[in-house]
Amino acid sequence: TYVVTDNCIACKYTDCVEVCPVDCFYEGENMLVIHPDECIDCGVCEPECPADAIRPDTEPDLETWVEFNRKYSEMW
Ligand code: SF4
Repeated sequence: TYVVTDNCIACKYTDCVEVCPVDCFYEGENMLVIHPDECIDCGVCEPECPADAIRPDTEPDLETWVEFNRKYSEMW
């Protein structure tokens, strides 16, 4: 799955939301998050993000962001 990280904070772009085939982006408090169970791992959002905030969860040191994306996407 992919996760949104801190570069998204206060970002006003929604290019990622528009390209996601399964609509798994949700609004967090001040940034977007990806629902980890809905993301199909297609990767099309990553290059669309102008803030370079979207990362695959296979990258190191993203545990905090993985938790954060789950927490805020499940509030909806
Ligand atoms: Fe949506 Fe694909 Fe990005 Fe997952 S990887 S959030 S399914 S666009």
